[in-house]
Amino acid sequence: MKILVTGGAGYIGSVTTAELIRTGHAVVVLDNLYQGHRDAVHPGAAFVEADLADPAAVARVFAAHPDIEGIMHFASYTLVGESMALPLKYLRDNLVNAANLLEAAVGAGVRRFILSSTANLFDDPARMPIDEHERIVPGSPYGESKFFIERLLHWFERIHGLRHACLRYFNAAGDLPDVGEDHDPETHLIPLVLQVALGQRPHIAVFGDDYPTPDGTCVRDYIHVVDLAQAHILAMQALDRLGSRKYNLGNGQGFSVLEVIETARRVTGQPIPHVVGPRRAGDPAVLIASSDAIRAELGWVPRYPDLASIVESAWAWHRAHPHGYADR
Ligand code: UDP
Repeated sequence: MKILVTGGAGYIGSVTTAELIRTGHAVVVLDNLYQGHRDAVHPGAAFVEADLADPAAVARVFAAHPDIEGIMHFASYTLVGESMALPLKYLRDNLVNAANLLEAAVGAGVRRFILSSTANLFDDPARMPIDEHERIVPGSPYGESKFFIERLLHWFERIHGLRHACLRYFNAAGDLPDVGEDHDPETHLIPLVLQVALGQRPHIAVFGDDYPTPDGTCVRDYIHVVDLAQAHILAMQALDRLGSRKYNLGNGQGFSVLEVIETARRVTGQPIPHVVGPRRAGDPAVLIASSDAIRAELGWVPRYPDLASIVESAWAWHRAHPHGYADR
């Protein structure tokens, strides 16, 4: 299949592009390089530098590649904290950009769409682990913007027959040897902890140790990006057979912030000092996914179900590329 990957120069999009090409698909990457890196794009993919905010540029991509059969949509603003300060960057721009993409897609006759969605839809879960029946309560304008796009997809299916899968990921982590996480600014726990191991930061700040969890720090479900990529590919292949789907994606096991730091100490052999600070606004105490549905329906089996192997893969990337893509 020829797949359009928006945001294919970003962290999860670039890993998915590499996995698509490895498994025999053709890929067109559309990215505005706002957060992405040109060097992150697999050399086997066609690359178009364009902005989804520009409908004419988006239409040109489909005109140049009339054989696109499916879309994986990663391109968006993704920072929960920033979305609390700049809500319209998320509520307006993520929505309008997705609408521009969808308009061009149905105009070009595309019938398959996979959305990179988020666990930030579940700010007030009644049950843990969180399954697909959980009530949607977006935790931020970022999460709400992804919910807006899920709703766009609902209507595009009813009106245009566009089949879609919404994949709500929990905490994406881990890297491939040559394709990895390089955010500026970096806000995620595992890369920040590894920056401490590399001597680039003096310590890791732990955002609160007074949560109602066993050690007082927040518990999260970390999932390897390669397993996320695999889920996208399986979901795309199953759309014709199963119809539209929503899946929660995690390993089904939670680790506290202190457990992540301890794992990184073991993997790296470095002391990694930590300092307990105040809570970060908007952090729920525990987020753990139930991924039973995607396992049962698509046969998805994570290759990296344990935290140590996720951190090992991240350490291999960060050690080889201490300054990210600037080192390539
Ligand atoms: N966290 C932390 N210190 C940091 C960054 C993150 O204690 O410097 C915590 C954060 O409060 C959360 C967990 O680590 O409980 C994972 O945060 P991250 O930003 O990686 O992902 P999120 O859960 O926000 O998607």
